[in-house]
Amino acid sequence: MTGRFAPSPTGRMHLGNIFTALLAWLSVRSQGGRMLLRIEDLDPQRSRAAYAEQLRRDLGWLGLDWDGEMPPQSTRSPVYAAHFAKLEEQGLIYPCYCSRSELHDASAPHASDGTVLYSGACRDLTPEQRAAKTRRPAWRVRVPDIAVSFRDGVCGPQTERLAETCGDFIVRRSDGVYAYQLAVVCDDALGSVTEVVRGCDLLGSTARQLWLFSVFGYPAPQYYHVPLLVAPDGRRLSKRERDLDMEALRARCTPEQLVGRLAQLAGLQPGPEPVRAADLVSRFSWERIPRGEIVIPANFSDGFRVFP
Ligand code: GLU
Repeated sequence: MTGRFAPSPTGRMHLGNIFTALLAWLSVRSQGGRMLLRIEDLDPQRSRAAYAEQLRRDLGWLGLDWDGEMPPQSTRSPVYAAHFAKLEEQGLIYPCYCSRSELHDASAPHASDGTVLYSGACRDLTPEQRAAKTRRPAWRVRVPDIAVSFRDGVCGPQTERLAETCGDFIVRRSDGVYAYQLAVVCDDALGSVTEVVRGCDLLGSTARQLWLFSVFGYPAPQYYHVPLLVAPDGRRLSKRERDLDMEALRARCTPEQLVGRLAQLAGLQPGPEPVRAADLVSRFSWERIPRGEIVIPANFSDGFRVFP
């Protein structure tokens, strides 16, 4: 089997990213599989090479290794273009001239993750109507009105009708950058990735990706969406939350202390005692991972000591 870490180099990892990376690594190592690293630097505005370098160092500090690195997404445009062309050949692509505010006015936001249901405003424009537009278009893929079902290894059985949740979605942005949904499918398929472990915030992207796998005729991976870690007051962690990012954590604790506390949150040990990631491999099982959000206890970093 092959798994992957797919971090975006848009900042220092925070506790949630670290938790996901740890579980992805433990799952692969407990199955004797191959681990790949892929830097998801699709967005040129937000990605920095220095963050990618720091990610590699932080993973190493945690004791999480990988067997190969896939080329970063910023170098893969020709691959994404070839897949975009396959969708075009099937008549599935059309230009969308809607502005951000038109998109937001026209549709109700989707409940769980903020995905907006596309109204279909540009779906059936005539060639004359298209020619009259001045805005640079984004490119959408037409989704059929079918249900996509899969069994997530953590969240259980899922079913989604794309036509009802997101509608036709963007596969290439108006600035020419290929969208995450397309890139991730190309990369996972061509990297022969069989297992995708990532944060629960991406559960809602999975049906779109599975549908693209089927359109391209690629076998789909097994998905595990890891519970989100939330602050004691229920807030979601983000990269802006500096007190639980890698920089702050590395200044205050050893990798074993950090991994020990995450292992407790993951149900892999009863207490927070320090442990090396490698020593958790034989204890790892997806059965033990809690379902639903995990609240970080207020005393999470009590007793961390400055690492000499
Ligand atoms: N690059 C995404 C992130 O850092 C993860 C995408 C994925 O695992 O499919 O959140």
